[in-house]
Amino acid sequence: MVIRKSSSSPGATHRVPPQSAPLDGRLAVQFANTAHPSTSNQDSLRTWEGLLAFLSGAGVISAERFRNLLEWEHASAPAIQQLLQAAVRLRTAVREALLAVADGGTTRESLISPINEILAITEGHDELMYEAGNWQLKFRAREESLEWLLAAIARSAAEIIAEGSRAPLRRCANPACGLLIYDTSRTRRRRWCSMALCGNRSKVASFARRHHPSRSSQA
Ligand SMILES: [Zn+2]
Repeated sequence: MVIRKSSSSPGATHRVPPQSAPLDGRLAVQFANTAHPSTSNQDSLRTWEGLLAFLSGAGVISAERFRNLLEWEHASAPAIQQLLQAAVRLRTAVREALLAVADGGTTRESLISPINEILAITEGHDELMYEAGNWQLKFRAREESLEWLLAAIARSAAEIIAEGSRAPLRRCANPACGLLIYDTSRTRRRRWCSMALCGNRSKVASFARRHHPSRSSQA
C-alpha cells in the first residue's frame, strides 16, 4: 500500500522531519515507554487510533495526516493489523536494546535486526523542496509503505544505540517505575521520569520517613 506524505505538519507539537535530520533520541524512548503500564491504562499499540495518536503526539505526523490515516481503518484492515504487529515487534526490540544501553551493556544482535528491517525500507534521498517561501531540505522516500510510519522511531533508536554509553539514557530512579529517560537537561542529572509522578512520590516518601520514621515501611 502506498501512502502520500503530507508536505507540512501544522498540528505537530514540534517538527520532526521523518528522515535524515538527526532526531534527539527522545522519540524512541517515548515509544519504548508505551510498553509500560504506568504510562497509560491502555497500550497505544493495540489499536490503529492508538498508534496514530502516539505518532501525532510525538510530532511524527501532522494532525491532518492523523485524520486522513484514521479513515483507512476499515479499508485497509489487514495491512493495519500487520503494521500494529510490526510496531509491537519493533517496540520489544527497541525497549530491550535501550535498556541495554541504559545499563551500560551491549545490545544483542537479535534486537538489532528488527530495527534494521525498518531502516531498510526507508530508502530515499534528500531533496530541496520549495515550501512556505523557502527552499527546505526534505527526505523523499523511494517507496512509502505503511511501515514507513515506523521509520522515524527506528531511526531514533538506531541513533541512541550508536551513541552507546555516551547516550544520556537511564532508568527512572524509582526502581518500581521502569520508564526510560533521555536526559536532555543542561546538567544531565535528571533522575525521575516525571517530577509529578516519581519525583513527588520520592519526596513524599522521604518526608514521611523523616517525620514518621515508624511509618517508613508504608511509604
Ligand atoms: Zn518514574
